Amino acid sequence: MSSPADNPNTRLFYIGGRWVEPATLSLLDVIDPATETRVAQVAQGSASDVDAAVAAARTAFPAYSASSHTQRVELLRQIVSVYQRRMPEIADALTLEMGAPITLARGAQIAAGVLTANEAIAALERFVFEQQRGSTLLVHEPIGVCGLITAWNWPMFLTFLKVMPALAAGCTMLLKPSEFAPLSAMLFTEVLAEAGVPPGVFNLVQGTGPVVGAAMTAHPGIDMISFTGSTRGGIAVAQSAATTVKRVVQELGGKSANILLPDADFASAVGKGVAHCFNNSGQTCVAPSRMLVPRARHEEAKALARATVASIVVGDPRDPRTTMGPVVGQAQFDKIQALIMSGIDDGAELVSGGTGRPEHLPRGYFVRPTVFAGVRNDMRIAREEIFGPVLCILPYDSEDEAVAIANDSAYGLSGYVQGADLERAHRVAARLRTGTVNINDARGDPSAPIGGYKQSGNGREKSEAGMLEYLETKALLGYQRG
Ligand code: NDP
Repeated sequence: MSSPADNPNTRLFYIGGRWVEPATLSLLDVIDPATETRVAQVAQGSASDVDAAVAAARTAFPAYSASSHTQRVELLRQIVSVYQRRMPEIADALTLEMGAPITLARGAQIAAGVLTANEAIAALERFVFEQQRGSTLLVHEPIGVCGLITAWNWPMFLTFLKVMPALAAGCTMLLKPSEFAPLSAMLFTEVLAEAGVPPGVFNLVQGTGPVVGAAMTAHPGIDMISFTGSTRGGIAVAQSAATTVKRVVQELGGKSANILLPDADFASAVGKGVAHCFNNSGQTCVAPSRMLVPRARHEEAKALARATVASIVVGDPRDPRTTMGPVVGQAQFDKIQALIMSGIDDGAELVSGGTGRPEHLPRGYFVRPTVFAGVRNDMRIAREEIFGPVLCILPYDSEDEAVAIANDSAYGLSGYVQGADLERAHRVAARLRTGTVNINDARGDPSAPIGGYKQSGNGREKSEAGMLEYLETKALLGYQRG
């Protein structure tokens, strides 16, 4: 099996059902975050490439949008089948480009694609596209050409999360993956081509947000943008898209609270909370990065968190013993270091970790898994999304105060509640202003919609709610059936 870095498609874009040369060849380095060395170069696109892809998507729209429910279900199933065959090499690409430990890449990172795809198929099978209400017929029609812009942290999950419902809805599209995850996106595109997605229905242009992304958001030929990334990026996208009044779905950042109620099983909940926060090197939008504990159990939480951190193996993501790899790149590394420093400067208590690299890893974007305790919610480390392996433990004095701290955030993506008294846990969960709340470490539900309140975004992904974002609703009045 050859490395994705040697694949000739790294220099090409997928437009109109063919791998084509960019309008002008300009290359973007792909850096292995574990070694800080260049491992590949990919073509980076321009506004001309976006024009070509949008033209192809517009040409393909009439025929594809008229395809039947059954044809689309069959197409999506075929995509899953080809993807499953190519999962091992896609997992290797993820480890190479964004540093996910190989066990995570071959496990949750890659499996998330299948789970998401299968749920999109189930949602399509359940979806009611037409509804007769008296003499009015309500019809859901594909919105048109979609611009899909993704982040690098869970590349296959995020890509399937957008591409599958767009295909299910009957839309055509252009994907711009993160510049930090271009190799897996290229392989994903090969999967779609092999699965028989008709020419022009799916198009890929690699490149940066400020060039390719900005050309997409302002493009009059794109009818909607689905964006996953930072709140800063989401604001720029919405502003640019406003001039053409296109729909914008934003899946943005988070600073999620994990409330441990006084009767929670701390021996289990603290360790699980730390592990969840540090999974994928803390680079997960829904990471429970603020752990709220009753003041009387603060010391106990600190000790349990310290013990969990001691079991984390930071190192080469290609080594199967590694449980935490590097963070994605230099800018992310620098930002995390600055925020750890700010926590120290603001007087938070350092329980584990700190600034700098782990001693045995002088090279690579490796961060020391860091836990702060005694954190106040007005500190920078409690307010800003760090997107690295940094956990804040905040003591609280009452249930009301815990809820107030949890909701005192610009974000509203996710929340977590742990407690033995289910009635109380449900009551607290109901008071959280977030798109999802996970009670007592509940298993993930692929059919549950995700999305944010407040500055965590607009709109939902997954399930019927996710499909609706790719559809217009038309009302046909006086629609009498004969
Ligand atoms: P960024 O906002 O930096 O980038 C996200 C994507 O947007 C990238 O493809 C980027 O391009 C592109 N982009 C950046 N600026 C613009 C612009 N002006 N116009 C159009 N496109 C643009 O986020 P990250 O990639 O660093 O991802 C991490 C963030 O994503 C975190 O905040 C995380 O919480 C969030 N996220 C949210 C999820 C959710 O479901 N709510 C899920 C996963 C992540 P480029 O290639 O140049 O970077």
